[in-house]
Amino acid sequence: MSRIKGKDTKPELLLRSMLHRAGFRFRLHVPGLPGRPDIVLPRYQTVIFVNGCFWHRHRNCKFAYTPKSRIEFWQQKFSDTVARDTAKEKQLRELGWNVITVWECELKQQAQETCANLLSRIVSSS
Ligand SMILES: [Zn+2]
Repeated sequence: MSRIKGKDTKPELLLRSMLHRAGFRFRLHVPGLPGRPDIVLPRYQTVIFVNGCFWHRHRNCKFAYTPKSRIEFWQQKFSDTVARDTAKEKQLRELGWNVITVWECELKQQAQETCANLLSRIVSSS
């Protein structure tokens, strides 16, 4: 399974520096966990995925458009990705992890709000 986005995409960096400033300690891309979550907070039993809206099909998001050509190809690709996302989330939950998904557009457009919201979800989950 190849990762389409790079490891250090900008929204993810933003999120990491915010978490760091807030005093959270985390690990990155832990290979042993299903789906290799982008950020792992062992103390809170929480993993965070930073999802690109296009590939991961952010619902009702303008970035999750479908290209006009080779529609079937794209739809297959998208449904595979979404099925994989659902499966890995289920696996992680079964292992006792709290799973949080953050969308790139949220980080880009409402960074402060998204981060504040995220922090409270991390803390309240523990
Ligand atoms: Zn989006």
